[in-house]
Amino acid sequence: GASIGVLGGGQLGRMMALAGAPLGYRFVALDPAPEAPCGQVAAQIVAAYSDKDAAAELAERTDVITYEFENVDAEVAALLEERSYVPQGSRLLYTTQHRLREKAALEAAGATVAPYAAIGSEAELDEAVKRLGTPCVLKTATGGYDGKGQFVIRNGSEVALAYAELSVTGAELVLEQFISFRCEISVIAARSSMGETSTFPPAENIHRGGILHASIVPARVPADVLAEAERLAARIAESFGAVGLLAVEMFYGEDGRLYVNEVAPRPHNSGHYTMEACATSQFEQHVRAICGLPLGSPELRTPVVMVNVLGEHLDGVTKLMLSPDSVGVEPTETAAAIRPKFHLYGKDEAKTGRKMGHINLLCGDTADALAWIDRTGLWPVE
Ligand code: ATP
Ligand code: MG
Ligand code: MG
Repeated sequence: GASIGVLGGGQLGRMMALAGAPLGYRFVALDPAPEAPCGQVAAQIVAAYSDKDAAAELAERTDVITYEFENVDAEVAALLEERSYVPQGSRLLYTTQHRLREKAALEAAGATVAPYAAIGSEAELDEAVKRLGTPCVLKTATGGYDGKGQFVIRNGSEVALAYAELSVTGAELVLEQFISFRCEISVIAARSSMGETSTFPPAENIHRGGILHASIVPARVPADVLAEAERLAARIAESFGAVGLLAVEMFYGEDGRLYVNEVAPRPHNSGHYTMEACATSQFEQHVRAICGLPLGSPELRTPVVMVNVLGEHLDGVTKLMLSPDSVGVEPTETAAAIRPKFHLYGKDEAKTGRKMGHINLLCGDTADALAWIDRTGLWPVE
């Protein structure tokens, strides 16, 4: 079988390797942390992501290279493209690594994004806040994740503080109008190296403290909006010339329109529900897409709620794994059908806010799964 090199050895690489193994692929991860989540289930080169010798070794040892995070060093990406086969290409990384380039590409694809402005100085920020109105959100153009590198500006008096806080990062900045939304949804699109495109059913995403808390599928929005979201994600994947997965985060606005927030050229936390709930998981689909296999069916086989296990939830979840039936369930037909599927990533340090695992709650009705989450008492109701 062929072998696949993965830049990054986190949980996304781990689940990719676990999904690719039944198809006969072997995996080699490149990650600086010994015993990285992916390295526990695959071979690993322990070195910095920017280490060119290590990248060259990865290219030497594998047939196809992919990545599990988008902040890949541009020089390393170029080196890998030259020495190996990187079906996703470096252009997709170049576009999605930078919010301003990404927004321009999204607009070119025909998507609507929140009104925005590039910010180079406090005076420009002051002017843009007046023009776009409050609330608005100042973000670093590069490097942000889990809501890090963002400042919500509620009124004009916060401009100086916002600029002071984010300009120290040295990153370029972008100001976005704050979209008042009914909910957030995401669609994982897949496009294969053979040009085939497929989309998974949209997930409704609940964030807490800037971090994804839960994904609900089917998303609780009208059917025509679900269909439009899938069409939009497919159109973006095609317009970007994407190969592999492209996760598209959207706001379903109070005005009934879909605004694209950002995209990620990789498996996405909001797509973890596919692991047991769909005929094909996002990880298998990614492997299929980059290896030129036909894409698998994205069909949803059951309603599902995915809940993230952060460091602060790990002890409780470990106990729950021993006695999943201890969660008091209402003796209704649908509640009895809840089947929790546990996924832990093998990370040693359970820091607060760190993603340690997730649970896919297969269910007859997502309302029951949400009630199950509440009854565990592990995720305090906000
Ligand atoms: P991720 O971990 O998804 O990569 P991130 O750090 O890149 O997160 P965003 O996705 O841009 O950050 O924003 C995080 C969350 O903040 C969004 O999911 C949404 O809840 C809120 N948010 C960000 N931008 C806006 C906006 N323009 N209008 C309304 N809400 C927003
Ligand atoms: Mg992001
Ligand atoms: Mg996001």
